[in-house]
Amino acid sequence: MPINRSFTLVRRPSGMPEDADFALVTDETPGLSEGQFLVRNHYASLDPAMRGWMDDKPSYMPPIRLGDVIRASTIGVVVQSRHADFPEGAWVATLGGIAEYSVQQTGRLIDPAALPLVTNYLSVGTGVGPTAYLGLLDIGKPRAGETVLVSGAAGGVGSLVGQIAKIQGCRAIGIAGGPEKCARLIDDYGYDAAIDYRGKSEQELVSAIRAAAPDGVDVQFENVGGAILDAGLMNLNAKGRVVLCGLISQYNSDPAPSRNLWQLIVHGARIEGFILTQHIARIPQAAAQLTQWVNEGRLRIDEHIEEGIENALPAFLRLFAGTNHGKMILKLS
Ligand code: NDP
Repeated sequence: MPINRSFTLVRRPSGMPEDADFALVTDETPGLSEGQFLVRNHYASLDPAMRGWMDDKPSYMPPIRLGDVIRASTIGVVVQSRHADFPEGAWVATLGGIAEYSVQQTGRLIDPAALPLVTNYLSVGTGVGPTAYLGLLDIGKPRAGETVLVSGAAGGVGSLVGQIAKIQGCRAIGIAGGPEKCARLIDDYGYDAAIDYRGKSEQELVSAIRAAAPDGVDVQFENVGGAILDAGLMNLNAKGRVVLCGLISQYNSDPAPSRNLWQLIVHGARIEGFILTQHIARIPQAAAQLTQWVNEGRLRIDEHIEEGIENALPAFLRLFAGTNHGKMILKLS
């Protein structure tokens, strides 16, 4: 059996994860039982949510146990099989974790030619793509002509939310860190206005959003939280909708309460959490539409691919430093 390397959790991080929280383990892949298949994982999706799974806290998925492989969505090729539905040579998406090989009993077969690059499946077929599509359309319910405000706007989820908002005929305003990302919001993703949050106080953010959205915000797609969430709330319109998708500014610290929730009362507005795992039945439709838009050239996907399992931690930490440029992916093969 092939030799496997896997990235495991050995200590629960306190604050920002560090080297001593993880171990790179080398061992032989186990033999297969009937109904199992062995996958050579080629790419792993790196997601901010993985930070939450490292904590021993109740969540939508159980915590990663100490000693276990770091959980991650993966795509790879079946290299040995005792499962009739997953033949050798097939590309398959599984929850393979940050490991070069994984033994699986179930997964989703993927057509590597359906999108320009096989990695695009991690942007469109699962994870960030369906999150952007379903979070915006099913929860935010934007109407043509409305204004959509997106935080984390240059990232995997945010870059797609802005483009989908434009396809729906909305005005899109993005918040991101730094002039280079803000330029990309306009030039690459078609946002109507971009706001650089770095170095701005909450009051300055409130003013910058007001200048970009003089008629107010109808849908706030929140990926960040903290002062950015609070500044957006101060610009909500009557019957506004806030899609709470992520709070990345708080994943490595104790969460700070939002101070401006009273704005929801003032405007009869709604805030609703979104978690993709509660929308599984809608993912195929979302993925099909996103795939079509990509292949028609209407939707741009940017992926940031780092290479090698030994680089799993620095690649993951890019999500929190803001040094990822697009959907963060780790190449494992
Ligand atoms: P991104 O590609 O958007 O990368 C994360 C980005 O967040 C960074 O590039 C950085 O951008 C920004 N960021 C990080 N720390 C901070 C901070 N302290 N303050 C402000 N911005 C910060 O990641 P994803 O697209 O994978 O995820 C985006 C969000 O969507 C996350 O909150 C994630 O948890 C959430 N999500 C939720 C899902 C769900 O089902 N609810 C599913 C998938 C993702 P910048 O340089 O602009 O600061």
